[in-house]
Amino acid sequence: MRYIDEFRDGELARGLARTIADEADPSRVYRLMEFCGGHTHAIYRYGVQDLMPANLRFVHGPGCPVCVLPMARIDQAIAMAVEHGVTLCTYGDLIRVPASERNSLLKAKAAGADIRMIYSTQDALTIARNAPEQQVVLFAIGFETTTPPTAVAIKSARAEGLENFSVFCNHVLTPPALSTILASQPAAADLIPAEHAEPHRDRDARLGDGGDAGVQLDGILGPSHVSTVIGSRPYEYVPETFAKPVVIAGFEPLDVMQSTLMLIRQINSGRAQVENQYTRAVTRDGNRKAQALMAEVFSPRETFEWRGLGHLAASALRIADAYADLDAEQRFPVAPSSGREIKGCECPSVLRGLMEPTDCKLFGAVCTPENPMGACMVSSEGACAAYWSYGRFRRPAEPSAAMTADAA
Ligand code: SF4
Repeated sequence: MRYIDEFRDGELARGLARTIADEADPSRVYRLMEFCGGHTHAIYRYGVQDLMPANLRFVHGPGCPVCVLPMARIDQAIAMAVEHGVTLCTYGDLIRVPASERNSLLKAKAAGADIRMIYSTQDALTIARNAPEQQVVLFAIGFETTTPPTAVAIKSARAEGLENFSVFCNHVLTPPALSTILASQPAAADLIPAEHAEPHRDRDARLGDGGDAGVQLDGILGPSHVSTVIGSRPYEYVPETFAKPVVIAGFEPLDVMQSTLMLIRQINSGRAQVENQYTRAVTRDGNRKAQALMAEVFSPRETFEWRGLGHLAASALRIADAYADLDAEQRFPVAPSSGREIKGCECPSVLRGLMEPTDCKLFGAVCTPENPMGACMVSSEGACAAYWSYGRFRRPAEPSAAMTADAA
């Protein structure tokens, strides 16, 4: 296949769905975590879950870069703009994410802070070049996919001698997050037996008696864009350590369905291997040039906080010592923030696969994309936004008092 619509072909999708239904063992439950928010959106946008047999459930993972950024880091970015008067350059997804005290980058901008929305790291460099008297900070976030462009921006600034440009680095790494989720699975003996588990929206079946211990998984739909950079090799510890299969999956609906079939075949045959469905973009070794760039410009942080997962060792990057003069955290120090979630927001549990968005009491009632209470409803990769955007879980509007009276 060469063109994008071929990966959305309904006839092929129905054929794959039939094969999945034929091969799925009806005596067991399949719980497959899609790591990336891009997969979650494909599943709900194209109705992939509805094509699956009843005993197969997709569990949403933490692969949404905006969602996993803890509130404290947004507080710090706002403090840089307000206290140090820098021009803060941010991607659009972040601008409406709630910060502490019901603040956000958008509200700080409305209150006078110089916060600009950009589409690429090059936009931030252009802003810095055009205003040499103004300090410009790039609020850099994301997984391994977006890290190389930040490295390019840092190297460009160094090469040009751009002294008014720096980076607030929040880049995170995929494998430590995956390890944390797999390591927190409840013991098999703690789970409700499969024959009693209703996989559709049955939170208890997924939680088991372990309560908040973690989510039981049978396989992983691995990241696609991240894997174009790091390759499939970094996931090889998953079968070795956790005995779970991984299939690197593309983001189109047929990619997700084919990857699901590959996982089912591994699970049914008792295999646990890393397989690559997304061969049109991912190799075992990934993009070595991008990896070398990242290794030159960044160093691992000892620890970093993730929303939902807590502080994870060696799970994020800081700017390497050789480029420390371009590190906004050093140039514009701000006090740490405790960054507490809005009461009732279940983003941390949604990001760990412990809850579905519709399990959150605020979903659709108080929290909507127009009035988001948590990052998962704002981000274009957030699970709550996926559930809401495709209209599949919207509650019908309550009839107004006037309509009720008319009806009477
Ligand atoms: Fe948070 Fe809103 Fe999602 Fe609830 S629906 S978990 S409040 S983002």
